[in-house]
Amino acid sequence: MLTNDQLAAWDRDHFFHPSTALGAHARGETPPRVMSGGDGVFIEDRDGNRLLDAFAGLYCVNVGYGRRQIADAIAAQAQQLAYYHAYVGHGTEASITLAKMILDRAPQGMSKVFFGLGGSDANETNIKLVWYYNNILGRPEKKKIVSRWRGYHGSGLMTGSLTGLKLFHDKFDLPLAQVVHTEAPYFYRRADPSLSEAEFTAHCAAELETLIDREGPETIAAFIGEPVLGTGGLVPPPAGYWDAIQKVLDRHDILLIADEVVTGFGRLGSMFGSDHYGMRPDLITIAKGLTSAYAPLSGSIFGDRMWQVLMQGTDENGAIGHGWTYSAHPIGAAAGVANLKLIDEMGLVANAGAVGRHLRAALRDAVGDHPNVGDIRGEGMMAAVELVKDRDSRTFFDPTEKAAIRVVAALLSEGVIGRAMPQSDIVGFAPPLCLTTDEADQVATALGKAIRSVLG
Ligand code: PMP
Repeated sequence: MLTNDQLAAWDRDHFFHPSTALGAHARGETPPRVMSGGDGVFIEDRDGNRLLDAFAGLYCVNVGYGRRQIADAIAAQAQQLAYYHAYVGHGTEASITLAKMILDRAPQGMSKVFFGLGGSDANETNIKLVWYYNNILGRPEKKKIVSRWRGYHGSGLMTGSLTGLKLFHDKFDLPLAQVVHTEAPYFYRRADPSLSEAEFTAHCAAELETLIDREGPETIAAFIGEPVLGTGGLVPPPAGYWDAIQKVLDRHDILLIADEVVTGFGRLGSMFGSDHYGMRPDLITIAKGLTSAYAPLSGSIFGDRMWQVLMQGTDENGAIGHGWTYSAHPIGAAAGVANLKLIDEMGLVANAGAVGRHLRAALRDAVGDHPNVGDIRGEGMMAAVELVKDRDSRTFFDPTEKAAIRVVAALLSEGVIGRAMPQSDIVGFAPPLCLTTDEADQVATALGKAIRSVLG
């Protein structure tokens, strides 16, 4: 077995890590963390630390680590048939079964699932197919996509453009011209603090309407949004938000893409966020929780309205010119089938709702009174603790103070993994859906100690 020192040297010299400060890492200022095992909500590293992973990797290991049923399903599939493609009507028992299981769980009106590898490529598929759809309908000018500031939809060319975070645009020549951003439904950070929640919802809908009028409704194809903003701050929408947005979209014949990469398969305490908030999407993006990240797999679930039109397009042209070598990869599909069964057997959707509520209550008990805690919020198994310099005047920390980053580092010393969300001072939690109330209490106690040790 390689020594930790050997691994650290190879890592520093050869490994280009995503979302990492490249220079500091290559200079050895941020030593690699080499993870080596896990069970349930706990993960172990090569230094012998056992940590409670309260972010489920990147909110993806929904059933928890070390689940034998999924590992066995992957091994069995790899032995029987590791790969065949899905082009020209091919499939495997696993991929066909998984498509059926997804549609059985999906909101009403959904029709077909196209499989990809990760959330970014699934959203690329969505946008290409929205364009294809409008070309078939003879409206080639209806192509722009509206996204929200602070939305996260991936880091490809189009999906990085849709993502409404500066870090994903700067120096990459993004966003592309077909993307326009509208206001984030972020009540705590609303510019005008005198607005009530209902007034803020009306304001977000009015902002969208203004943007559509400015661009011209005939140029806007789709609106994309996460039911609950994820990476942009773990922000549930203000009351009535999706209903108000849906009305604007309907008025202008604009498609709705629900990006459920995080919220799909139980995270909000409902199978899908779209059902949770009464959204009526034309397309749903799924990834992470589809396999609980035991294998890379994503999907785009198409609603009937789009599907009927897409079929007409291929009747004229023959095969559709879109697909990946690894679409519906059998090993990912086998992992997905075993994972969705496990979610049902373990009752994880209900657990996410109940224990998620308990987690937020425990966080409020532990740090709700702290002068640097401005907001504690969340939905289902998602929770955010927003740090502020001054709570009464809602003054935020200067980014150079790295408040959340320091708290998350202190939290790690307490044995709990949380995440400092980008472009804000938010400590985020999105644990595996199997979290117990005792484990939720452990997270809250550790955060209390971490905040007091860093901020006093
Ligand atoms: N959409 C959402 C809502 C996400 O949270 C993410 C990833 N965090 C993506 C898309 C992109 O997924 P991936 O990183 O698998 O490409």
